[in-house]
Amino acid sequence: MKIKKNDTVKMLIGKDRRKTGKVLSAHPSEGKVTVEGLNIMKKHARPRREGEQGQRVELPRKVNVSDVMLVCPKCSASVRVGYKTVGGKKVRTCKKCESEI
Ligand SMILES: [Zn+2]
Repeated sequence: MKIKKNDTVKMLIGKDRRKTGKVLSAHPSEGKVTVEGLNIMKKHARPRREGEQGQRVELPRKVNVSDVMLVCPKCSASVRVGYKTVGGKKVRTCKKCESEI
C-alpha cells in the first residue's frame, strides 16, 4: 500500500474534501486508512452506569486509500507516489520533487 502510518494525506472526496490529516493507522488488507480528524463519525454513548453522563464520541472512520492522496513533506503538495530501489531497498518517492518519502 502506498500510504503508511504517520503520513499526511489529503482527502479527495466527501465533506472533508481538500482537508488534510495524519494517518493514525493503515489497514493494508482492506485497502483503507484511518486519518486523524477526517471522516468523523459522531457517536452518542449512553451512560453505562447510573450517575454517569452520556457523551458524544468522535471517531474517525476508515477511508479508502483511493480517496486520499499523500501530501509530500518536502514540497507540501498532494502528490502521486513512485517507487525506486536504493541499495536493494524499495523506497517511496514523490513524483513531483523526486525526493524520498
Ligand atoms: Zn514532493
